[in-house]
Amino acid sequence: MMAASVDDCIFCRIIRGEMSSNIVYQDADIMAFRDVNPAAPTHILIVPRQHIPNMYALDEETVPLVSRMMLAAKSIAAAEKAETNGFRLVFNNGSDGGQSVNHLHMHFLAGRRMAWPPG
Ligand code: 5GP
Ligand code: ZN
Repeated sequence: MMAASVDDCIFCRIIRGEMSSNIVYQDADIMAFRDVNPAAPTHILIVPRQHIPNMYALDEETVPLVSRMMLAAKSIAAAEKAETNGFRLVFNNGSDGGQSVNHLHMHFLAGRRMAWPPG
C-alpha cells in the first residue's frame, strides 16, 4: 500500500524529522536529501515541504514550488560540483512513470554518464 496522507507519507515523516535522512539542502519551502537507494554516485531527492502527491495535484497556487525545486537543484549542482559534467533531473509520475512515493519529488542524478532513453 503506497503512502497517501501526510501522516503516513515517508517524505513527510523525513520533513518532520521523524525519520532520519541525509539532508543536503533546505529552505522555507524545499528540502533535499540523499536517496536511500542511489541510482547514481550522486542521487538526491528534492521535495516541497508541502504534501503534494503528484503532478496531477499541482495547481496555480502550488506550481511556484516547482520553480523553487529548480533553484534548489541549481544550488545542489554547485555544492555537489556537478556543474561542469552535468546532471539529470527526473520526475517520475504515476505508475507508468515509475513513481513509488506519493509525495512530489524531483530526482537529482549526477556523477556518471546517463543513458538515453531511460529504462
Ligand atoms: P520514485 O520511485 O517515487 O520516483 O522515487 C522514490 C525514491 O525514494 C526512490 O529512489 C527510493 O529509493 C527513495 N526512497 C524511498 N524511501 C526512502 C527513504 O526512506 N529515505 C530516502 N532517503 N529515500 C527513500
Ligand atoms: Zn508527503
